[in-house]
Amino acid sequence: MTAKPWYASVTDLDLRAFEAIVGPAYVRTDPLSLDKYGRDETEDLVFPPEVVVFPGSAEEVQAVVRYCYRRRIPVTPRAGGTGLSGGALPVLGGVVLSVERMNRILEIDDVNMMAVVEPGVVTADLQQAVEERGLFYPPDPASRFVCCIGGNVAENAGGPRALKYGVTRDYVYGLDVVLPNGRRLRTGGKLYKDVAGYDLTRLFVGSEGTLGVFTRIILRLIPKPAVQWTLLVPFDAWDGAFRALRGIFEARLLPAAVEFMDREAVVITAARTQRPFPHTDAAALLLIQLDGDDPAVVEGQALRVGEVCERAGARDVQVADTPARQEELWAFRRAVGEAVKKTSVYKEEDTVVPRDRLPDLLTTVRGLAQRYGFRAVCYGHAGDGNIHVNILKMGLTERTWREILPHATKELFEAVVALGGTITGEHGVGWVQRPYLPIALPSESLRLQRRLKRLFDPRGIMNPGKVFP
Ligand SMILES: Cc1cc2nc3c(=O)[nH]c(=O)nc-3n(C[C@H](O)[C@H](O)[C@H](O)COP(=O)(O)OP(=O)(O)OC[C@H]3O[C@@H](n4cnc5c(N)ncnc54)[C@H](O)[C@@H]3O)c2cc1C
Repeated sequence: MTAKPWYASVTDLDLRAFEAIVGPAYVRTDPLSLDKYGRDETEDLVFPPEVVVFPGSAEEVQAVVRYCYRRRIPVTPRAGGTGLSGGALPVLGGVVLSVERMNRILEIDDVNMMAVVEPGVVTADLQQAVEERGLFYPPDPASRFVCCIGGNVAENAGGPRALKYGVTRDYVYGLDVVLPNGRRLRTGGKLYKDVAGYDLTRLFVGSEGTLGVFTRIILRLIPKPAVQWTLLVPFDAWDGAFRALRGIFEARLLPAAVEFMDREAVVITAARTQRPFPHTDAAALLLIQLDGDDPAVVEGQALRVGEVCERAGARDVQVADTPARQEELWAFRRAVGEAVKKTSVYKEEDTVVPRDRLPDLLTTVRGLAQRYGFRAVCYGHAGDGNIHVNILKMGLTERTWREILPHATKELFEAVVALGGTITGEHGVGWVQRPYLPIALPSESLRLQRRLKRLFDPRGIMNPGKVFP
């Protein structure tokens, strides 16, 4: 897609200017790079940028952004490129600003229990580094071996452990941001308490790269739980799984994670990964993680969760109490998304409802699948009500896929909102969910948010074409 007349196209002169800022090795216009940085993990979308720039420091980010602001060139920040809503796609051309060179863990502060990192640090690398010191950074998107902290902050990433530990937002205590006009701003600090003025840190978290580029991030850490148990629980009917989920909370238990996979998700993943997996014929599986510091307490909780599941109709309760067996089960769960992608062109709807409404959500999906004739794969973070509804194209005609299926998505989102939920729990609005945002937000909220965007970015250069319909 070419840039709109409002924006300037990138010229040779601009390329020389970027080279002067970051060095010629870090400015790329070759077709392979433009193709690679024109994609993320969202469906089959491709929007090649005009140039990819790789700054190595906050000063370089600032110089590139300031230059683009003057010239009105679109800037799309990018970290790990694993986004599922098209947030990092340069839909109006211009510059992709990749922070992947800015990948240093600057500090792990044991006393204040904070980490200070650059935005290109891979999430799993940070987790490993802090865990070696007995600390814990809980947010665990299933993409954590590839995605980066900068992208996690921009999307307010969640993951299975959000149930007990919260999402990225709950760990971001301070930010250095390059604003769209090229000015730099520091928010927050290593402070557990801070009510001086509006909470700009929280405004930036989840802003999907539209309000500025994060160049340094302060994250809260907590002590690492000493013990973890994982239970794999198959059910012959998926409503049994939701009865068990309900029972767990009624018993006042709080697992670290309760993940749901329907039969389609398990069958597709077992076939694509060629990993043997027990109970591929079950209607639904729950993967439940319990953690804590006292082995006897965690074991007691695991037993109680097992009893609740059996009462709800579980076919079996398998316990994985060794790290190796636990990792096998979690690796299978993490592989579901990729397996779906390999099976068919698909659309993933990141629905979230109060967890007691999950049976209604699944009933709605089934009804829509029957009526519109699509194959649905449902899996995700049942503990916090966040289920990824994957609509597979398979044998549907191009016309049905492009013209009819959006009506199914709209109906799904309307039902989700009627259940007290919303249209995206953790993947963001980005490019693909923009048309549906008015279903989730009242017009007054949309108006205020648009005005905020204009206040931060009067020239509209920062990740244009995103979030707002
Ligand atoms: C297999 C798979 C599993 C996934 N599982 C989960 C999951 O469990 N939970 C979950 O929440 N998500 C999940 N995701 C989605 C995705 O990984 C997350 O949204 C993640 O936070 C994106 O991080 P990233 O570094 O890849 O960001 P990118 O895709 O590069 O960018 C995402 C957004 O962040 C912006 N951005 C990037 N860097 C910066 C910066 N420095 N400053 C400002 N804005 C910036 C971009 O402009 C874009 O809007 C999954 C994705 C895949 C492919």
